[in-house]
Amino acid sequence: MRAATYTQGGEFLVKDVPKPVVPPGGLLLRILATSICGTDIKIMKHGHRKLRDGQTITLGHEIVGEVVELGEGVDGFQLGQRVGVAPNAGCGNCRTCRRGEANYCTEFTAFGIDRDGSHAEFMSVPPVFIRQGNLVPLPAEISNQAASLLEPLSCVVNGGRSVDLGKGDVVVIYGVGPMGLLHILAARALGAEKVIAVDPQPERLVQAIKLGACLGIDPIKEDVKAQVMEASEGQGADVVITACPVAAVQNQALSLLATHGRLCLFGGLPKGAGAVPLDTNDIHYRHLTVTGTTGGSVADYRAALDLVMSEGLDPLQVVSDTFSLQDLESAYAKALEGPMGKVVMVAT
Ligand SMILES: [Zn+2]
Ligand SMILES: [Zn+2]
Repeated sequence: MRAATYTQGGEFLVKDVPKPVVPPGGLLLRILATSICGTDIKIMKHGHRKLRDGQTITLGHEIVGEVVELGEGVDGFQLGQRVGVAPNAGCGNCRTCRRGEANYCTEFTAFGIDRDGSHAEFMSVPPVFIRQGNLVPLPAEISNQAASLLEPLSCVVNGGRSVDLGKGDVVVIYGVGPMGLLHILAARALGAEKVIAVDPQPERLVQAIKLGACLGIDPIKEDVKAQVMEASEGQGADVVITACPVAAVQNQALSLLATHGRLCLFGGLPKGAGAVPLDTNDIHYRHLTVTGTTGGSVADYRAALDLVMSEGLDPLQVVSDTFSLQDLESAYAKALEGPMGKVVMVAT
């Protein structure tokens, strides 16, 4: 089968690999839809700390598949069943895992990160993912394409929950690439009163407004703080989310917050960005909360599905390009261009 592979040390290659075999106690998925994430691109360019030198993996951790083979002793799944996959499994024993947050376990393993993922026709699922509840049966109402975005949406859910994003909040989102756009949809679905998008690319701001932002601000040409103050009756934002890898915005983000405001540093910074100075007196005197999140747990994945099924969030709104899963080269070429939204591949 064709697979988009990466070898630690620097090589990305679409090539033929053997079809995976079903492990005892696990199962085999035929991939129905899978999207490309910024993390895939990051791995292509810089590798991943979880990979050994020379280790080759199939990329892809945003996954919808159909069960096509059951390993010995697997209960609870049937052939032909459609599942979404939360990609991180933890050691299962540490305090982090016992809280249900395998995505923060120091011993985590994840599809498309340190083991073969979904950018291929088939993917093998070992038993640990079944035991930890990572395979989520999908209701018929959600399409394969939409369900492939449940994983990035689960990361967004995690970020939003960390700052208690909810009804009546004025929310500012820095960076409205695909993840920032998902943040807009989630904030709206969670009842935010106003969502303000900040991005230097005018086309992205247009898209942000289409998806429910009430205001788009170009941080190069415009005064972000003045505009946020004006939009919030001079109070500032209740929640700011930085969905961009830019150190300079983190401090500015803090200055936009209202009393009791909450900041989520959602986007990490490039390695070597160094320490970012934060005005801690600002945090002290105005009772601010600063947090950060990465990835999402199985519970976040299920919460993401819930936002789609019960709150009418339509993740397809952030898809800009769809390719056949047979055409991995074109899909990656598009993703490398820095598209307006998510690149999704579907089985044909
Ligand atoms: Zn991702
Ligand atoms: Zn653990």
